[in-house]
Amino acid sequence: MSGSPAVLLRLVASAYQVAEKAGDIVRKVLHRGDLGIVEKEGAHDLQTLADRLAQQSICASLSRRFPKITIIGEEDLPDEEVKEDLIENGQSEEILHKICPAEYSGLKEEELVVWVDPVDGTKEYTEGLLDNVTVLIGIAYAGRAIAGVINQPFYNYQVEPRVHLGRTMWAMLGLGAFGFQLKEAPNDKRIVTTTRSHSNKIVTDCVNAMEPHEVIRVGGAGNKIIQLIEGKASAYVFASPGTKKWDTCAPEVFLHCVGGKLTDIYNNPYQYDANVKRMNSAGVLATLRNHEYYASRVPQSVLQALKSD
Ligand code: AMP
Ligand code: MG
Ligand code: MG
Repeated sequence: MSGSPAVLLRLVASAYQVAEKAGDIVRKVLHRGDLGIVEKEGAHDLQTLADRLAQQSICASLSRRFPKITIIGEEDLPDEEVKEDLIENGQSEEILHKICPAEYSGLKEEELVVWVDPVDGTKEYTEGLLDNVTVLIGIAYAGRAIAGVINQPFYNYQVEPRVHLGRTMWAMLGLGAFGFQLKEAPNDKRIVTTTRSHSNKIVTDCVNAMEPHEVIRVGGAGNKIIQLIEGKASAYVFASPGTKKWDTCAPEVFLHCVGGKLTDIYNNPYQYDANVKRMNSAGVLATLRNHEYYASRVPQSVLQALKSD
């Protein structure tokens, strides 16, 4: 190959290493013991030291190497110098050696938007439900989610005897999704995954309307998408505002790479350009297969209760 790899490949190669470093930070803060919990908008919207340090690490590391990229992180942090030991300079060699899909090979830094959820599933992190936690880095171009990295810092934390803790997955449209074993949920069962801590009557009504054989209530948007691509659930149904663009940008790419879909509850796609509203006001419907079936079962009462974007 001649010349330097395409900007998008270099960005994903950096995001991969940066997500690993963020995962490390998330583990270290837990190990240290004091999580430094702050309530953002009440007890159901928390921030910990891990959220703050991981976001600083991710955003500062990426913006040093790619100064013209728009990077949007979940946490509202003071504009202060980031400590040098939070900076990650590495890039995944494996990703750098891939061939960038032709349609993305000429993208420029200023055309890319990065959505960062430094800790998805913070509430579960504070409650010790550690495998619910992910670090999400999503990359968008022209309003579409095109690449993403997911780190799961505590993957395997309950496995005995002890094995390597944590894993990193990545995906790019036109290239594929890597770092996990794709598996479909059983064809003859509707297994619905949904929130465990942000439920209400409309959320429950919508889940029940799917006539599920089983309902799994777990934390984290990233975690629920992992359940879909690893065959543990057939649909992620959340008929409520609450998730934001940084929750869905990276996860959506994984689903799209393996033939799945993520939309709002009206079956409309979300947009990811820098100016969009952060809130996913019309909820989330995500599936690996049979998206139309699940979309068709959303009751009118639920559609009326939620506003489309
Ligand atoms: P959950 O499925 O409840 O774990 O939510 C997935 C993601 O969306 C997490 O990042 C949550 O913090 C966020 N989220 C969902 N609902 C709400 C809400 N009502 N208020 C604040 N954040 C929410
Ligand atoms: Mg989140
Ligand atoms: Mg978060």
